[in-house]
Amino acid sequence: MDLIVVGGGAAGLACAVEGGRLGLKVLLLEKTDRCGNKIALTGGRKCNFTHTDLPREMAKRFDCAPELILPILRRFSYQTIINFFSCLGINHRVDDDGCVWPVVPGREERKAGPASMVRDRLVAAALAAGVEIRTRAKVKRIEPGWRVVLEKGEEFQADNLCLATGGASYPQTGSTGDGVLLVRTLGIKTTPFFPALAALRPEEDIRSLAGITQQLVEVRINVTGVRPQRGNFIFAHEYISGSAVMNISGFAGRALQEGKGVVVTVDWVPEKDKENLRLEWLRLQQERPLLQVNTLLRRYVARRVAEFLCEQVGVPGVHRLTVLSKAEIERLIDGLRGTRFDIVGIEPLARATVSGGGVCLEEVDMTTMAARRFSGLFFAGEVLDIWAESGGYNLHFAWASGLTVARTVAGVLEKRKGLTYGKKM
Ligand SMILES: Cc1cc2nc3c(=O)[nH]c(=O)nc-3n(C[C@H](O)[C@H](O)[C@H](O)COP(=O)(O)OP(=O)(O)OC[C@H]3O[C@@H](n4cnc5c(N)ncnc54)[C@H](O)[C@@H]3O)c2cc1C
Repeated sequence: MDLIVVGGGAAGLACAVEGGRLGLKVLLLEKTDRCGNKIALTGGRKCNFTHTDLPREMAKRFDCAPELILPILRRFSYQTIINFFSCLGINHRVDDDGCVWPVVPGREERKAGPASMVRDRLVAAALAAGVEIRTRAKVKRIEPGWRVVLEKGEEFQADNLCLATGGASYPQTGSTGDGVLLVRTLGIKTTPFFPALAALRPEEDIRSLAGITQQLVEVRINVTGVRPQRGNFIFAHEYISGSAVMNISGFAGRALQEGKGVVVTVDWVPEKDKENLRLEWLRLQQERPLLQVNTLLRRYVARRVAEFLCEQVGVPGVHRLTVLSKAEIERLIDGLRGTRFDIVGIEPLARATVSGGGVCLEEVDMTTMAARRFSGLFFAGEVLDIWAESGGYNLHFAWASGLTVARTVAGVLEKRKGLTYGKKM
């Protein structure tokens, strides 16, 4: 056996398909009764499987230093991933925001859903490429050599081993963080899993705001180096959510895990210049002195958010503009540009879209996905301590890292110019 792949998710299947096509003898071990359980759930079962961002832009979407991930994104750009799927007979469409989705050709597959189709095509391609797939095969132990021991006692041996056991979110799909346990005996450094792409729980009582959505806000977090995120914002009972919150949530998850205080601020009018806003308010104070603060705020935010804002900055919403002092106007504008939420919790791993934590990146050569300290050992996908914003980037990394492992093992990483999908070298 040339390569054993542990985990039949996105990364493991991509690795197995490519390995088989490159002529490797591959065994894929999946602990549940079916490969790709999580793939079938992705993107609301429609599978946002990559994004059209160029590599340099895409690298900024990940939580690690962009230089670390850039080589693999350059080698496996969006176009390469599209080509890989097109060889599986999967065409694609692109949304205005660059998210890429599969197009379902047949009626039967339409019934099952695009995400299930992607899973089924990957499994079929692996089998067609000669990959042996064993389901209900939970790996319990790995030993250099590489010897792989199943829970049931069965053993396998191969020159190379790819750990693609996923993270620890949505455990019902099979991703229960096993990778971290498997490498523990090897002394490989890992970080505990934590929720990323998850809703955040603020200390403030926001229950009266449940159900309100603001279409475009800018969210900031008090973690150095994290870019502000623009997107929608949702009050969801005791949690705040929406794309802008989700995309910074992993940084909150890590900071909370480390016992640090997390503060998120929301700019409800990110497209307005602060000075212009101030001039607008001062003009209105002259022209419409009897206008209530609440009514004015409703130009920018929902009614209940306006009331919440007034309470936070200590200016009664029923006050008329004429009675407002300059300092009060300043406080209201500051509130509108930066409502503060003290974050005390995050949705549990079971409900997070992805997890941070896992095998530390310093243990891995990110150009080949090989373990730095063990020859023949590789990692792919969410088992690694890396996560990205939503938009197809997490699956992109799973495919790209899985393909990288197969090519490294087959020794064709640097000969990629001659590699055509669907043909053996
Ligand atoms: C609801 C939801 C929606 C999502 N939507 C998107 C989206 O639209 N776009 C996007 O980019 N990302 C999305 N993601 C994230 C994306 O699905 C993951 O990042 C990706 O699936 C990770 O791939 P992986 O192969 O590393 O892990 P997984 O897909 O989790 O696969 C790991 C596999 O390993 C198996 N395994 C684990 N332990 C063992 C063991 N001991 N022995 C044998 N097998 C084992 C598991 O059973 C599982 O099949 C979504 C995630 C969720 C939960």
